[in-house]
Amino acid sequence: MAVVNLWEMLLDFIFPPHCPLCHAYVEERGHWCPQCLVKALQPHHLPLSVPMQAVLAEAWALGVYKGSLRDLIRHLKYQGKRSNLPYMKSLLSAVGEMSDMRELLSGIDLAVPVPLHPQKEKQRGFNQAELIFGAFLMEQHIPMQRLLTRTRATRPMYELSERERADNLKNAFAVIGAKALQGKNVLLVDDIFTTGSTMMECARVLKQAGACSVIGLVMASDHGQMK
Ligand SMILES: [Zn+2]
Repeated sequence: MAVVNLWEMLLDFIFPPHCPLCHAYVEERGHWCPQCLVKALQPHHLPLSVPMQAVLAEAWALGVYKGSLRDLIRHLKYQGKRSNLPYMKSLLSAVGEMSDMRELLSGIDLAVPVPLHPQKEKQRGFNQAELIFGAFLMEQHIPMQRLLTRTRATRPMYELSERERADNLKNAFAVIGAKALQGKNVLLVDDIFTTGSTMMECARVLKQAGACSVIGLVMASDHGQMK
C-alpha cells in the first residue's frame, strides 16, 4: 500500500491531476473542475422513433458527443487510452446522484453491454461499453452480464443509408443465456447513440428472448445542445 501511495504521490507531482476540458488543476485524478463538469454533464432523454418505442421503454444519454467528451470516448476506443476512464466514471458518479437517474436505476435488474464482433473486440482488446460502465454499475449493485453476442461482422453505420442500416443489423445479434433475462428489467449500455439502430436491434433481441423491459443508456449522443 505504501509503495502504491508513494507512486501516486510521485505521479501527481510529475503529472498533476487536471480537468480534461480546461486543464485546470483538480484535487483528484479523473475529476473535472466544477464548471466543466456542469458543461459536460447533460443527461437527456433520447428521441425514439415509433419502432424504437416498441422495444425500448426509454433511452438516456449522459452528455453530448462533442468536444472533450467526444475526445475522451474516441481516444479510449481508437487509441486504447484507458486513462480516460476515470473522467467518464466521474461523470457517471455525478449522474448517479441525480434523483431521476436514481429512480431509473432503482428499477433495473441487470445491465447488458452492446457487444462488439469477437474479432473486433480481440483487435481492440476490450468492449468500451463494459469498460465505461463497469465500475459505476458495480457501485450501484447492478450486475452486468454479457447476454448478447454479435453473430456476424457489420459494416460501419456511418457509411449507410437508413434502409441499409436496418439490413446491415438484421440477425446480427443473438442472446446467450436467455434464462437470465426472463422477466427482467434490463439496462442496455453503449458508448454512443447516433441513429439508435444498433440499440433498437439489441433491445428487440433482448425483448424477444424474454426481457420484461429494456432501457438504453449511453455516455454521449449527437442529440441535445452543448451549453
Ligand atoms: Zn475545467
